[in-house]
Formats: sequence, C-alpha cells, structure tokens
Amino acid sequence: MKKYFEKIFGGGQEEFQKVLSKHLEEEKRLFVVTANPETLMTGQENSEFDRLLMDEETCIVPDGIGTVKAAHMLGYDVAERVTGVEISQFLLKEAVRQGKTVFLLGAKEEVVSALAGKLAAKYPNLGILGYENGYVKDKDVVFDRIAELRPDVVLVALGIPQQELLIYRHLRQFEKGIFVGVGGSFDVLSG
Ligand code: UDP
Repeated sequence: MKKYFEKIFGGGQEEFQKVLSKHLEEEKRLFVVTANPETLMTGQENSEFDRLLMDEETCIVPDGIGTVKAAHMLGYDVAERVTGVEISQFLLKEAVRQGKTVFLLGAKEEVVSALAGKLAAKYPNLGILGYENGYVKDKDVVFDRIAELRPDVVLVALGIPQQELLIYRHLRQFEKGIFVGVGGSFDVLSG
C-alpha cells in the first residue's frame, strides 16, 4: 500500500491542473487514476491493477478525503483531494482553450448523449470526436476505434476497476492523449 502513497500527487488541484495543461499542450501521453481507498485496495488484490498503478506513465491523484487522511497518517504531504468531476471539468475547458479534441466513453446512453449535447451547446468550439455508452458488449473494439481517432482527451466513466483496466490494456496503442477513469462523473456533469 505504501508504494502507492509514494506516488500520489500531493500538490493539490491547482498544481495538478498545471500538469494536465502541460501534457495536453505537449501532446504527451498521461494516464490519471483518481484513487479512493477502494482503488488502492484493488491494487493489492489484483496484479494487473497493481502494475497499472505502478506504471511510470500513471499519475495517481487522491480522490476523496479517505485517501488524503490515509496519506497523512502515513506521513505523506498531500494538500487536498482531486476528484474525477473536477478533472473532467478542467480538461474539457482546457481542451476548448487549446483547440484539442475529446472522446467520452461510459455511463448509460441517455447520460452520455445528454452530456455530449450539453457540452456542444456550452462549448461550440470543443472538438467532440465521439461518444459511446458504457454498456456496449465489447469495449475493446470501442477502444480500437478511439485509437484511430487520436483524441487528445479520453474520459472513461465505467467505475473502478473496469475503466482503469480497459485504459491500461490499450494505452500503448496511442501516441498521445490524457486518459482518465472518471467513475460516476458523467452522471453528475450531464445533469
Ligand atoms: N457504468 C458503465 N458500464 C458498466 C458499469 C457502470 O458505463 O458496465 C457506469 C455507470 O453508469 C456510472 C459509472 O459507470 O455512470 C460508475 O459510477 P460509480 O459512481 O459507481 O463509480 P465510482 O465513481 O464509484 O467508481
């Protein structure tokens, strides 16, 4: 468990936004895992999940007060939580500012389509390359399709651990892109 805390981003939301902006601008690949205590437990129980958490391209951010408190108890300096909703909101706004493209995968069809519609209305210049609900049978096929589109931001809302395992299986098919498992964020943002 301690090895995950060694890697956790402790700089807080604003500092993390700078990391995201820079990666987006430089078209560098980045995998973000928003970690609650359950996420870190999954790493202890599942060797593939452990591998993805420890990968040098993976950035773990503390999603939830439980992770922040646990970090403090272990003596790590973690400023505040950084949630999937906050990351999603920032990346969408930043994608507009930088003229970048996004793909949305996950949640129910009515949720993800409502979110795509809402974003298109709010940000007419946002490059939404496409979206897909999270209940299609073969999500690996969907990811192959996403890879062909070469998006700059891929938000995956399938819940833990499905979203992280799926991203990690396909990450190296992409030359660039910020990939984030955002859990229930589409449900929040579409409303
Ligand atoms: N979901 C999905 N496909 C699935 C299972 C879940 O798209 O096979 C979606 C679900 O509709 C919800 C999100 O994944 O939008 C999971 O949200 P939850 O709050 O459970 O995830 P957490 O944030 O706790 O990881």
